[in-house]
Amino acid sequence: MQIGDLIRRAGRQFGAAPALVDGERVVTFAEFDDLTDRLGHALLSRGLAAGDRVAVLMPNGIDGVVVYYALAKSGLVRVPLNARETAHELAFKIEDSQARGLVVAGEAPAPVEITIAAEELPGLIEGAPAGPCDVRRDPDEPLRLAYTGGTTGRPKAVVLTTRSELAEVNNFLVDLVPNLRPDSVMLHAAPITHGSGAFFLPHLVKGAANVIVSKFSPGAFLEAAQKHRATTTFMVPTMIGMLLEDLATAQADLALERLCYGGAPIATTVLQRGIDVLGPVFTQLYGQAEAPLAITCLQPWEHTPERLTSAGKPYTFVEVDIRDAEGNSLGVDGVGEVLTRGPHTMERYWRRPEATAETKQADGWVHTGDIGRWDAEGYLHLLDRRHDVIISGGFNVYPREVEDALLAHPAVVEAAVVGLPDEKWGERVTAAVVVRAAADPDEIRAFCADRLAGFKRPKAVEIWPDLPTSPVGKSLRREVRDRMLTTARSLSERAINSED
Ligand code: AMP
Repeated sequence: MQIGDLIRRAGRQFGAAPALVDGERVVTFAEFDDLTDRLGHALLSRGLAAGDRVAVLMPNGIDGVVVYYALAKSGLVRVPLNARETAHELAFKIEDSQARGLVVAGEAPAPVEITIAAEELPGLIEGAPAGPCDVRRDPDEPLRLAYTGGTTGRPKAVVLTTRSELAEVNNFLVDLVPNLRPDSVMLHAAPITHGSGAFFLPHLVKGAANVIVSKFSPGAFLEAAQKHRATTTFMVPTMIGMLLEDLATAQADLALERLCYGGAPIATTVLQRGIDVLGPVFTQLYGQAEAPLAITCLQPWEHTPERLTSAGKPYTFVEVDIRDAEGNSLGVDGVGEVLTRGPHTMERYWRRPEATAETKQADGWVHTGDIGRWDAEGYLHLLDRRHDVIISGGFNVYPREVEDALLAHPAVVEAAVVGLPDEKWGERVTAAVVVRAAADPDEIRAFCADRLAGFKRPKAVEIWPDLPTSPVGKSLRREVRDRMLTTARSLSERAINSED
């Protein structure tokens, strides 16, 4: 089976029903099938050939989705780019993926052999022949390249195949969004280039509409959710925090059945408040680019107070194991690295054989780089990224636990905890926080003292106007650390200079 087969069948089965909605624009299932066929033909007639990479840099909207699936039908490999990245990052990804084609709204970030401006798309579609565009590819060949968040070093592209994409759809339909019906409605508030895009096909194949909000704001989300009676949505934790701030004053009549969230740790205080305000709709997913959005999930009915710190149980068709440094599987409460295996995981990293060998074992197990433990009921608890663990006085400190303690303080809205070099302790726990109202760093430190063992307490708390985040809202601790080190260096240089 190919991705195009799913689109063709949905076109036949759900013909005149709305498949895609963006503001006033509606595309039916039959039209979506036709648009993607025509654009597929047009792309091939521009000289692109099966297997070529095509970078796509377009705003969240219907045209972007049409491009994505025209690429699948014409055997081209999608390289989605996010407009919020810097020109430098975009150019890097275009070069690294060796893109032959680029579909771009606005200026091209790097020269590419075949560039198609977004404004050309209607004309190309109009001028192309109708009828199936059906370039069939081996299921193990690349379908798309997904760049990792880049929270640790230079971004790498994960190669995902037709086989992995179909398995991803299957994982969603079985566990994350079961019971989809033709009257279900997916509201895409987050960029479809990332997590939200994974919800598109599961809804399409079940005849449900995909509604797109071109730019997220709590107001735009609430308006679209009410207007279209959205039943499913996906948010990263930062968006949930913003939405809840708005809902403190706004009234909303929502039809949400599942608010899926994940991609980064969520503070339990935020999650509990969300459940209080929106009801039992929260569904957590834990995944990564290497295992797209499916390692474990926490179902709405599993969001009991004692389980809010858990990332849930493995998806039905996904294997998950926690292992020590020697590769032994650990039982209840053993702390080690999370590994996962399943047909949806990465085929390899694009042009990075060493990174592939480090991450994916010959038997298919993928090292996630996350540290976790099982509880007695089989729920996974994530402690932190392996690379972010701070070692202070010989003890492991998981920054996330310290951040959670800081976020429990009523004035703290964001927190990032890092380890700075320390002569005595090896590393010292240091925090940067964003505060809602005026707050005293010493008082925040004292607040943590009640919640954290001595070695975990931040030795310093800095108040920052904002924290660096990646284009999809992931906290960039590495950058926080770099900035702190630079400041420390310039302070010590100033001290030396003033001694002269
Ligand atoms: P990316 O590959 O950029 O999607 O980043 C994946 C990483 O985000 C994972 O390896 C985790 O460290 C983190 N992550 C994803 N989902 C969750 C979750 N539900 N809870 C905590 N961390 C998460």
